[in-house]
Amino acid sequence: MSDDTQKTLCGNVEEELQIKDPQAYIALIKPATHYCEGCGRSAAKAENVCKPQKL
Ligand SMILES: [Zn+2]
Repeated sequence: MSDDTQKTLCGNVEEELQIKDPQAYIALIKPATHYCEGCGRSAAKAENVCKPQKL
């Protein structure tokens, strides 16, 4: 596990980005074009989730 690479949305949610910085979180998920097969989250970019699948 490396924190040097861009953090995934999944990782950000674990750290409660959606509570700490809702605007930053919203920017990551809108407009959602992918979802994470691993955690079920939706994201604007495939690289923002751990197991991206197209919506
Ligand atoms: Zn995930």
